[in-house]
Amino acid sequence: MKRVFVILIAALTVLSGCKAAPKRFSASYTDVFDTVTDFTAYCSSQEEFDRLSKAAHEELLRLHRIFDIYNTYDGLNNAKSLNDGVSGEYPKELCEIIGLSKQWYSESDGALNIALGSVLSLWHDCREAKVLPDADELKSRSAHCDIDGITVDGRNIRLSDSMMSIDLGAVAKGYAAQKTAELLESLGAENFALSVGGNVVTRGKKPSGNWEIGIQSPDGGILMTLSVSGESIVTSGDYQRFYEVDGVIYHHIIDPKNLWPASLWRSVTVIFEDSSTADALSTALFCLPYEDGAKLLEKYGAEAVWVSKDGEITCSEGVAKYEK
Ligand code: ADP
Ligand code: MG
Repeated sequence: MKRVFVILIAALTVLSGCKAAPKRFSASYTDVFDTVTDFTAYCSSQEEFDRLSKAAHEELLRLHRIFDIYNTYDGLNNAKSLNDGVSGEYPKELCEIIGLSKQWYSESDGALNIALGSVLSLWHDCREAKVLPDADELKSRSAHCDIDGITVDGRNIRLSDSMMSIDLGAVAKGYAAQKTAELLESLGAENFALSVGGNVVTRGKKPSGNWEIGIQSPDGGILMTLSVSGESIVTSGDYQRFYEVDGVIYHHIIDPKNLWPASLWRSVTVIFEDSSTADALSTALFCLPYEDGAKLLEKYGAEAVWVSKDGEITCSEGVAKYEK
């Protein structure tokens, strides 16, 4: 009996020796989605991490090109081609994100509208020039933002109006983070965190326990630390991209109801397993009053943290279980 026990211990030692204890590795990419992406994973070797990191980076680059509204790429029909009126087959990811966005549009009562491109491009140009948009110009552009004007038929996509354009800024990073996390899992990654410009996806755990993700306070510092394993955390905030005219701050999330920067919140953070949905919800909730946002969250079983203009923090009921 004693011998069997000794042999068993020896076998276990040999087996566990096959796989080195996982170590923490990380990499950053600065060439996707005009932001910084951080990938952290616990792996048994540098080679294993490098293989995963290369795959993640390539997938993010591929999706970045598909959703890019500023550049075209040889041999690819992307979001810019669609805005330029190019007909033909489009990548399945573009068809899928448009389909999902139409659903989020109706669920959010139009607060999230990817067909807002013509209005958003005016705001974009004004931000660069540090001037305010002309109210009449904004209004005339808003006549070209009907989401029903985007039709997807198999792999063909059409915009019904030549003045219309799509802008995927509110949903592309979350969707890309989700797809990349799925790819990493299919390649055997178990314990990792991927942050595409703050759109964070977590899978598994660290050896010491859950991932700890800080929610940034709109005024700097950390508002709250969340302990998660498997969830995504996405924030939309007025402090992420903005400019100032005559002492007033104008940020980048536009309320489709009045075509001006949404003014209810400083930030909204959404916690939900699926990162595409979390990204869509965070932008939608940023434009919606609390009651409407809470109803939308409930539909998905997602959680949120709202920070009001005067710094008041409101959490949905389930946030407490993640709070550290
Ligand atoms: P960020 O991309 O800064 O993390 P969001 O996910 O909230 O934040 O997306 C903001 C971006 O979405 C804007 O830069 C713009 O491209 C686009 N956008 C702004 N307002 C809306 C809106 N109401 N509906 C859809 N897209 C929007
Ligand atoms: Mg978003």
